[in-house]
Amino acid sequence: MKNKKINKLIIGTNNKGKLKEIKDLLPKYIKTLSTSNFNLKSPRENGKTFRQNSLIKSKYFSKKTNLVCLADDSGMEIDFLNKKPGIYSARWGGKNSDFNKAIKRVYRELNKKDKNWRNKKIKARFICALSISYLHKIIACELGKVEGSISHKPKGKNGFGYDPIFIPNKSKKTFAEMPSSKKYKLDHRYKAFKKIKKFL
Ligand code: IMP
Repeated sequence: MKNKKINKLIIGTNNKGKLKEIKDLLPKYIKTLSTSNFNLKSPRENGKTFRQNSLIKSKYFSKKTNLVCLADDSGMEIDFLNKKPGIYSARWGGKNSDFNKAIKRVYRELNKKDKNWRNKKIKARFICALSISYLHKIIACELGKVEGSISHKPKGKNGFGYDPIFIPNKSKKTFAEMPSSKKYKLDHRYKAFKKIKKFL
């Protein structure tokens, strides 16, 4: 496996936003398959870190399909909420991964903590662990981060998840207000991808 170029892999995610972004990052010669091609549900993410959960997914989907798997585990940490939602970012959207529900929960938790939170800069970051596994073997696992803050209200229609409330540092716009091509070059997934691409 080691020095062989990977020309086919499964992207181990059931999240359409991530799937699109990862597909766009990969070189075009790599044929990609997704979990929906195999009708596969996601495994239980019972790791304690982004890295552990990413590896749970890449190993699981690789074993199920016998293909090399590239998987992502990601989320947003808000310092003022003691780094929540963190690895529970998807779960804040409930059973149906409703992103509006997750965003409402962020504002609810911030209000609970301090009604005047809008007078402060609420620091946050997105983190992404990308991993590549082939059956039981871990080929690579790398972390990417992007620092920013929470917007006073949701803004923008692009992207997915917490994009409408995250403003990366040095920008005035949320990720959801940017064209996807711009967000992709700034975000946590791209930073992790830059570290992992030499293994592809
Ligand atoms: P998981 O990695 O499948 O556990 O889900 C990660 C969750 O974090 C997603 O469902 C989103 O809510 C959030 N998330 C991760 N990356 C991004 C991003 O690039 N933009 C917005 N939300 C994200």
